Amino acid sequence: MALTGLDIYKLLPKTNCKQCGQPTCLAFAMKLSQKQAELAACPHVSDQAKQALEAASRPPIRLVTVGVGDGRKIEVGNETVMCRHEKTFFHEPGYVVRIKDTAGDDEIAQTAAAIAAYGVERVGMDLRVSGVAVENASKNTAAFLKAVDLVKAAGDLSLVLMSADPAVMEAALAKSASSKPLIYAATKDNAAQMAALALKFKCPVAVCAEGLEAATALAEEVNKAGVEDIVLDPGTRGFADSLVTLTQLRRLALKKNFRPAGYPIITFPGEQASSPEEETLLAGQQVAKYAGIVVLERFDPSTIYPLLTLRQNIYTDPQKPIQMQPGIYTIGEPGTSSPVYVTTNFSLTYFSVAGEVEGSGLPSWLLVTDSEGLSVLTAWAAGKFDAEKIAKSAKTSGIADKVSHRKIIIPGHVATLRGELEDELSDWQIMVGPREAVDIPSFIKRTWN
Ligand code: SF4
Repeated sequence: MALTGLDIYKLLPKTNCKQCGQPTCLAFAMKLSQKQAELAACPHVSDQAKQALEAASRPPIRLVTVGVGDGRKIEVGNETVMCRHEKTFFHEPGYVVRIKDTAGDDEIAQTAAAIAAYGVERVGMDLRVSGVAVENASKNTAAFLKAVDLVKAAGDLSLVLMSADPAVMEAALAKSASSKPLIYAATKDNAAQMAALALKFKCPVAVCAEGLEAATALAEEVNKAGVEDIVLDPGTRGFADSLVTLTQLRRLALKKNFRPAGYPIITFPGEQASSPEEETLLAGQQVAKYAGIVVLERFDPSTIYPLLTLRQNIYTDPQKPIQMQPGIYTIGEPGTSSPVYVTTNFSLTYFSVAGEVEGSGLPSWLLVTDSEGLSVLTAWAAGKFDAEKIAKSAKTSGIADKVSHRKIIIPGHVATLRGELEDELSDWQIMVGPREAVDIPSFIKRTWN
């Protein structure tokens, strides 16, 4: 929790010596609270005060990294708000799929390969599964190590190593620590050994205990052993208990600055689910509130895709819509007689329109106008997608040099702009397209000769 100027002032020497460049210690404290000064500017601040001030500036939820590289590394934590609309959520949860080492070599290799190969593009972003949780269900060290090897061979998947046996975990870490797997899990029976492994191999560790109090107590114990990168598993597996416990943990971390709750959370939505659909629903709830790593029981594109989409929507900054660069885009290989569509630079709008234009089978030009990332109707209502802006976009984009005709198609939702646009672009014919992108193929078939 951020300290106020007065809180900081209480920790300063209060001699008003001015060596920090400020007339008084209070003025310096105010500057510090506004992040307009550095603590190092005061040469007289005590070590004790330094520690307190540094601790206060730590994020309330620790940022923990699982995996390496830019591709699938999971970075979770460092969140600052309870609700997305207060600011934004920063670090999206990672999805990992559980594979048991009893599954058989072929199945392990095939599942891992399918997970590694899976990816979808949505509004210009690649959505992928982060990794695999390999479980030592066999209780056999060799089988576990083989399964880990098979998963690693599939590609750059992040790893969660699941075993309660510190000796088995150590053997697996000896082979895979360089890929920074998550150790799952430290329990009340093995916490000291698992904490020692986390320190030895420089890997994050999950602590697992039933209930909020037990989980945070165990996190505190592991932290006291010197481990900083901790993930919490409070043992909740159902809809209601998961919602309550995860919300309480977030609240304790953010509102009460309760450090043992200030870690990302790992969840297992499929462990008590009665069907894949129920697992998916619970996973969705946990992505919204407040999972950091979600372990799924199976890999199925039909359930993964909605979860990836949901995560993308929740973890998009609500104040900064995903935008396209304004300009001319080609759909297919358009020529001088191809249609020219106009739309806004909200990514979702762009991809909806582009997809339907492509589906029409007629190569086209798409003139994307800067609407500050708003959709057509919202931009129009906010005055960011009007006749003047569309005309300016058409005139400066160079579209007139690319086509021999002078027809431009505006979205049906802004049909009202037609008259003004005819004044602004007097040598162009303004056509009003359909209101919904899905109707573009039938519209263009009907109207374009
Ligand atoms: S240098 Fe330190 S002690 Fe001196 S006025 Fe500034 S804050 Fe106070």
